[in-house]
Amino acid sequence: MTSFADIIIRNSHILRPDGLGWREDADCLALAGGKICALGRAAEMAAWRGPGTETIDLAGGYLTPGLVDGHAHPIQGHDLQIGLDLAEVRDMGQLRAALAQAASALPPDAWLQGHGLDPSLLAQAGHPADELEAAAGGRPVFLLFFDYHGAMVSRAALARAGITGPRGFASGADILCDAAGRPTGTLLETEAVELVRAVLPRLEQAARLASMRALFERMAAAGLTGMHVMDANGDSLDCFAALEAQAKLPLRFHILPWVNPGATRAELEAVLALQSRAGRLWRVCGAKFFIDGTIDAGTAWLHEPDTQGGSTGPHWPSPEAYSEAVRFFGERGVHTATHAIGDKAVRHVLDTLASLPPPIRAAARHRVEHIETLPDEDIGRFASLQVLPSMQPSHAVRYASADLSDPWSQRLGPVRAARGWRTADIAATGVPLVLGSDWPIAPYDAREILACAVARRLPGRALAPVGAEQTLSRAAALAGLTRHTAYVVQEETRLGAVLPGYDADLTGFSVDPLNAGVDELGTAPFRLTLSDGQVTHRLAE
Ligand SMILES: [Zn+2]
Repeated sequence: MTSFADIIIRNSHILRPDGLGWREDADCLALAGGKICALGRAAEMAAWRGPGTETIDLAGGYLTPGLVDGHAHPIQGHDLQIGLDLAEVRDMGQLRAALAQAASALPPDAWLQGHGLDPSLLAQAGHPADELEAAAGGRPVFLLFFDYHGAMVSRAALARAGITGPRGFASGADILCDAAGRPTGTLLETEAVELVRAVLPRLEQAARLASMRALFERMAAAGLTGMHVMDANGDSLDCFAALEAQAKLPLRFHILPWVNPGATRAELEAVLALQSRAGRLWRVCGAKFFIDGTIDAGTAWLHEPDTQGGSTGPHWPSPEAYSEAVRFFGERGVHTATHAIGDKAVRHVLDTLASLPPPIRAAARHRVEHIETLPDEDIGRFASLQVLPSMQPSHAVRYASADLSDPWSQRLGPVRAARGWRTADIAATGVPLVLGSDWPIAPYDAREILACAVARRLPGRALAPVGAEQTLSRAAALAGLTRHTAYVVQEETRLGAVLPGYDADLTGFSVDPLNAGVDELGTAPFRLTLSDGQVTHRLAE
């Protein structure tokens, strides 16, 4: 044990281990070497105060275990979110204006890149390639859809990528063309989008890493001390290692690499081999599967087809092969997470985990991601199988609407849409419910996740709640980002509680997260975040 504290935090409310209220016996916390060493009153801190001890006055703020986003893609998201943010653009007129303004600041030959584009704008543009060409003064333009399932590019961009007409893709990707076979500028799904991404200018690695660190610092300012990273795509692991070699990481990362549909035995072995990769604040700890796609794209797996005849099958060519692959990791004590959005997809994952012998199932923490629509009969199975649900309440709010007029609800029809994101029903069964954002699909700001969990609406906007009966208590929402995110990666003896001996990953709220109104909770700045005992965000006085 270190004899003196590195930091003493005073004048704070400290969350009790049960997460339901604030401690009566302590308003100060001492930490050293990245660990919490003591809780108590100011007088009890005297023994911990040495010549090098820093004191932080939380000014009556509220100290909780560090908030952890249970599902995000920080490296991939970083690399996709380049250029203009088009999330607020509502029509072609606004798009033209935004592009013209951005283009005016660029050299004549430079790429103009953007992200967050609403694909329904396409309905207003027959040939986006020509529209973008004109708006950007002939520059090559590359604009990603907000769901990352497509892009709109300009004539010059098509030319640079050598795209002159239709092509066949095994994955179902598509280059949209007019009757004459001329590309319109719309590219659907990864294989088509990658043709243009491959010729985009790349950031130099040093600049890319610096930009990632700046992103992680913004995440810390948004209340986060950690993330569960649901991919290790590209050079992600090398990026974590390189960033940590430069300086301490601002967040703690638990990483689950993908097992692609139809993976061979050699591919399973390769993901198994990655389980040993780790640094101080990053660690591979599981395998991520996809059993289906999305409702909006018609690629989810439902018991009955959607209203357009879509969402009828699994992503894996053989669902049995998926089950065997999960068993492969389960037998080796490796956590699994499976993306399962449709009701049949969730059923198949639960059936798969139910088929594991109980001691094997209990040897690792298995989780199901998203669970967007679920019938009554499967609600209780998470608790009975001890399979952990991981959900994104902000998706319910952002991508569905109370009047069911949105594309997600329309495709499901009223019965299944009414069973959307059943966070309260699942939490009521007693299973630890993990919460997250799936950034960059939705914002990583922990305040938005909390607000959407407790009110099913965005903070600061007077819109009707989506699925109002599925609101969580403030304590349950907080647990979804703290105690439960620790439990699902089997770190509950060192993360997810403010107790001596635990890692000093802490979030300081300026308002009481157990009692503040949702608009206040959703917008008040965080006063402090610490990761591994290091201050990663501190509100200016
Ligand atoms: Zn994801």
